[in-house]
Amino acid sequence: MKTLLTEDQLRDGVQRLAKEIVEFYEGRPLTIVGILTGSVVVLADLIRELNMPLRVGVVQARSYHGATTERGELIINADLMPDIKDRDVLLVDDIFDTGHTLVEVVAKMRELQPRSVRSLVLFRKEGRQQVQHEPDFVGFRIPDEFVVGYGLDYEDAYRHLRYLASLEEAEITNHLLEGESGGR
Ligand code: 5GP
Ligand code: MG
Repeated sequence: MKTLLTEDQLRDGVQRLAKEIVEFYEGRPLTIVGILTGSVVVLADLIRELNMPLRVGVVQARSYHGATTERGELIINADLMPDIKDRDVLLVDDIFDTGHTLVEVVAKMRELQPRSVRSLVLFRKEGRQQVQHEPDFVGFRIPDEFVVGYGLDYEDAYRHLRYLASLEEAEITNHLLEGESGGR
């Protein structure tokens, strides 16, 4: 694994984002909604940097990969959300890749009639987007590599790493082979 961003760099980035948010909302109450599961680490770090009236919620988005669909259908579960009607909402996601997840979750939020919906992503992968939407706040622009750590997983592992690493293709293949032989 190759370290892309260190713990210190991530902390600086989160503090910078927090500053931008505080300045942008000018003391108006904000409802932050993290998209599960990848956003849990940045969510926890970000909210503790925000000195402003704040509510926190989560929404689950996961893709269901049908046999015939190339891109999985996205299932959004908003049952865990606080009421956002007439509220200023900031959606938080770990990484902006094709962009489809964020676009669909933003659309789902709008159905609940908030005062405003904006979006924040900690990482924006360069050159991958398939949508017009741009997140309002971006932590880091990163190259088109598969990354893990600081909330991001590979097969549910590595989320707890304090840094961001890129997984080489060889490591992904090895991992799959180990899985097949039952060894770890
Ligand atoms: P999008 O809908 O923008 O294509 O994808 C967003 C989701 O795909 C992210 O929330 C994340 O779960 C997953 N994803 C995209 N790129 C990566 C990556 O490099 N590493 C990991 N671990 N997940 C990724
Ligand atoms: Mg995710």
